[in-house]
Amino acid sequence: MSDVLNVSEMFGKNVFNDAVMRDRLPKSVYKKLKKTIEDGAELDPSIADVVAHAMKDWAIERGATHYTHWFQPLTGVTAEKHDSFISAPSDGKVIMEFSGKELIKGEPDASSFPSGGLRATFEARGYTVWDCTSPAFLREDAIGVTLCIPTSFCSYKGEALDKKTPLLRSMQAVNEQALRILRLFGNTTAKRVAPSVGAEQEYFLVDREKYLQRKDLIYTGRTLFGAMPPKGQELEDHYFGAIRERIGSYMNDVNKELWKLGVPAKTQHNEVAPAQHELAPIYEGVNQAVDHNQIVMETLKKVAGRHGMACLLHEKPFAGVNGSGKHDNWSLTADDGTNLLNPGDTPHENIQFLLVLACIIKAVDIHADLLRESASDVGNDHRLGANEAPPAIISIFLGEQLEDVIDQLCSTGEATHSKQGGTLKTGVDILPDLDKDATDRNRTSPFAFTGNKFEFRMVGSSDSIASPNTVLNTIVAEAFKEAADILEKADDFDMAVHDFIKKTLAAHKRIIFNGNGYSDEWVAEAERRGLPNIRSMVDAIPALTTDKAVKLFEAFGVFTKAELESRSEVEYENYSKAINIEARTMYDMASKSIIPAVIKYTTQLAASIGAVKGVCQEADVSTQTELLIETSELLTGIKTALAHLLEATEKAAAAEGGKGQAVIYHSQVVPAMEALRAPVDQLEMIVDKELWPMPSYGDLIFEV
Ligand code: ADP
Ligand code: MG
Repeated sequence: MSDVLNVSEMFGKNVFNDAVMRDRLPKSVYKKLKKTIEDGAELDPSIADVVAHAMKDWAIERGATHYTHWFQPLTGVTAEKHDSFISAPSDGKVIMEFSGKELIKGEPDASSFPSGGLRATFEARGYTVWDCTSPAFLREDAIGVTLCIPTSFCSYKGEALDKKTPLLRSMQAVNEQALRILRLFGNTTAKRVAPSVGAEQEYFLVDREKYLQRKDLIYTGRTLFGAMPPKGQELEDHYFGAIRERIGSYMNDVNKELWKLGVPAKTQHNEVAPAQHELAPIYEGVNQAVDHNQIVMETLKKVAGRHGMACLLHEKPFAGVNGSGKHDNWSLTADDGTNLLNPGDTPHENIQFLLVLACIIKAVDIHADLLRESASDVGNDHRLGANEAPPAIISIFLGEQLEDVIDQLCSTGEATHSKQGGTLKTGVDILPDLDKDATDRNRTSPFAFTGNKFEFRMVGSSDSIASPNTVLNTIVAEAFKEAADILEKADDFDMAVHDFIKKTLAAHKRIIFNGNGYSDEWVAEAERRGLPNIRSMVDAIPALTTDKAVKLFEAFGVFTKAELESRSEVEYENYSKAINIEARTMYDMASKSIIPAVIKYTTQLAASIGAVKGVCQEADVSTQTELLIETSELLTGIKTALAHLLEATEKAAAAEGGKGQAVIYHSQVVPAMEALRAPVDQLEMIVDKELWPMPSYGDLIFEV
């Protein structure tokens, strides 16, 4: 069959990957580059010209005309500026050029990227710097073929203006400290420990024609109005349901695009809500995983357009049905293949694992506020701490087996056995018996141990996974450091490590919770345990600049105090801007589309009453009359709510920027938006569908 998909041939076709480099670079250059990529050695700038030429030739052979430094500013999406390879014409002819200097450094005129005060406009220089540890790739789209070079983005003074730079710094920190832990246990051969990450991505698909009829979706990525359809997700018939043809053909195209770009897209299925789906890649080194997740998000959107659909990455596109998140699966892998989070079959004997586990538990307990902050974005406020999972309280799920080991350790000072999973018997002779996992799955924990990795489930679907991983790497580096500082000096290592694990677990056990994280009892219990319950993004941001945070991040060279302050500024600003756009979109839709439609409806009702009465005085028009009264009352409700929203928005917009302004948006504008939504949604249930000015929830989520 000629049209059989040859995945292995397609995979990585558009990536300047190891095989291409080995093939096209002189051996000595290749070796030097590999030293940086694999061992973290400093990049030798003298090889840049050679690499640039090879990259250019490879790209041009594949049709590329332009290159771009691809970076991740604090807007949360990627940015790029395209330059063509052409040189200045001489004799009317151009040649295609790309120098080492152009590969290594770019200077986008980037004064309009958020910097949170790090760069005043008069010193607006910002540099993009080649990150050779994430391979360059070719993007094919309507613009043509573009060579994309992953880069960091820094200010003139070297301050990070992006999400990648701190991530790379945090990788250095956790590498150094994790190696100290491995050395304690006699591992002298491992040279590098790097976080491995797999990010499961949820998204919604809606029909593009209908999408274009909703200003809220266009401007804000979510519906700001919308009554629930008669059927929601209660039947649970969508989750893992058969994938329909239109969606299947979309997923097929997405996979092909991703495979060409070397993104190991692996799993796809329908999610809980109607029209909701998930894509998960195979895990990779964290830097790649972060870049690839950005590519996944871009690809999901781009391909949707080709299939007459729109992809919604917002955390909560529809009220009343599940929102979307991103599960950040995280573990630590040494270059000799050891996964530091692998407990083995008998975790109670695996002292290195227990030490690593104790350190992670401690890190998460001490820095729960930072982890919570790293997962906050404007859209995620509708999930975390609202009526949805996961809860805003950070806790750790370990599962029965590990919790039992920890209980043994804490009560007797020694763990003597590990519970085993046993055998799964179905009672059907023709089905094989299976070995069971020692631990059942838990779906409600924000931070769950799942076999040989932790799964951080709070991250928002539209957010970059860079910040959560930067925080995770750094807090774990700190806990490792504190352990290594003590244990390296111990006279009797065995005694000392047992003692350390026991003490650490006892001190931080409160963060472990194996029950139902969605229950009200847990909220009360967590409060009793003194765990923070941070309900919103605005409440979360201060965690970035506490003394504790500054000390942590400065100690490991991940952020300076100024960088943290600038980041918190940018976040407040992003919040205020996003809510301002939502409020103005609501105002616009309500006053220009919804009110006129409702007035039309009341006029029809009044006309009907008049007409019926005109023909027959005795006729019963009570239904029309009641509807008219109800509709008119709700219309007044809209008018009042609209006035309040306008007042609140003007007040917020006039406030001085930063925290104060964000607080006004959060505490006054958001409630005013909710107050406007209520009568509108009620009216949508009453008003003639023909008159309603936009597609309903039912149209959007059941008719893709
Ligand atoms: P689920 O959460 O649905 O049970 P899986 O176990 O299939 O999912 O894994 C989810 C994600 O976790 C995938 O992206 C997978 O590659 C990733 N993953 C698996 N093992 C590890 C690991 N050791 N470290 C990091 N990520 C991992
Ligand atoms: Mg998962």
